[in-house]
Amino acid sequence: MKTVQVPLKDNSYNIYIDNDLHETITSFFANSNFSRTALVVSDSNVDKLYAAQTLAALKKAGFAPQLTSIPAGEKSKSFFVAQELYTTAIKAGLDRKSPIIALGGGVVGDIAGFIASTYMRGIPFIQMPTSLLAHVDSSVGGKVAVNHQLGKNLIGSFYQPKAVFIDLDMLQTLPVREISTGLAEIIKYGLIYDKNFFTYITDHSADIFALNNDVLKNIIARSCEIKAAVVAKDEKETGLRAILNFGHTLAHAIERETKYEKYNHGEAVSIGMVGAAIISRDLGFIQDDVIKAICHVLELCRLPQKCTFCSEDGIYQDLFHDKKTVNGKINWVLLDEIGKVHSDNAVPEKTVRHAIKSIL
Ligand code: NAD
Ligand code: ZN
Repeated sequence: MKTVQVPLKDNSYNIYIDNDLHETITSFFANSNFSRTALVVSDSNVDKLYAAQTLAALKKAGFAPQLTSIPAGEKSKSFFVAQELYTTAIKAGLDRKSPIIALGGGVVGDIAGFIASTYMRGIPFIQMPTSLLAHVDSSVGGKVAVNHQLGKNLIGSFYQPKAVFIDLDMLQTLPVREISTGLAEIIKYGLIYDKNFFTYITDHSADIFALNNDVLKNIIARSCEIKAAVVAKDEKETGLRAILNFGHTLAHAIERETKYEKYNHGEAVSIGMVGAAIISRDLGFIQDDVIKAICHVLELCRLPQKCTFCSEDGIYQDLFHDKKTVNGKINWVLLDEIGKVHSDNAVPEKTVRHAIKSIL
């Protein structure tokens, strides 16, 4: 078992990473002071695969868990579904000490966490992420949210879980495209923070797709460590945490431009990281060899490097609609070298436009 601590000021918690975590889960819940009425939130793909074993682990710990499932997919991260989940929580008799358990990908984690953060002004929340992206990104750091019709993740809060349980066995059923999605964020951690990790991912891409257990454990644990280290220094995103946004400024514009239909998030981040690297090169911070190394690992991880469905003007205009854009200034995260980045909110328009042209 690998255990990664997220060391926060008031509410530190552990991420447990291993195969077959049932006993660890049972023991955590049995030793908790939670009320024994619990709600497990899952989705229509994951519930069939993993709900029964999760409910069994909770029952063994003396809990009376109820399961509720939302339709799989981003559309479920809505107010409408949130409203239904509140109703389920009330009818299930959840009190202030009852835990809500998110069993699913980032969609389930974000909406279940949002419910946990607001139901009775906040009740215990536990993450059991099942997608690679949720393992390394959405389940770590405490951002929870639902989407608004006018924008993604616009309504949310910071709400840390009590624990995160990552069961590696669950990756066996994850579609391969979702493995690539998670890898985009994993590559991002190497680029912003750890050159050796970047090299490790490049060297082990085949093992990752073959679901080699040790390699998966290593890359998930290192990703969680990096995200935890960044979040611990800046829990509410007032400064450093913005480096996690590397590649995301363009990614969000690409996602909006393509109406969230052509690329999933990791694919858009992959293209966005190439764009951010091109800006970094054009401003003289890195050389061509770094771009080559990035494109090489993205290819190995079966991720796109170009946005074939976008226009230069469309993406450029869309950059100003990002919720991270403040006072009309786009905050770019740029590469100094592999493993090191800085923020820059004064990139000239022609440099941005050149990067956009390069990724079309
Ligand atoms: P997702 O939750 O939609 O899961 C992707 C697909 O994989 C779904 O169809 C799901 O049913 C399926 N799935 C999940 N685990 C499975 C398994 N083990 N076996 C088979 N199928 C499985 O998407 P995601 O990529 O996990 O998460 C994306 C969401 O996360 C977005 O809403 C995004 O905004 C959010 N997010 C949040 C944060 C944060 O800090 N809170 C960070 C990054 C992303
Ligand atoms: Zn992301």
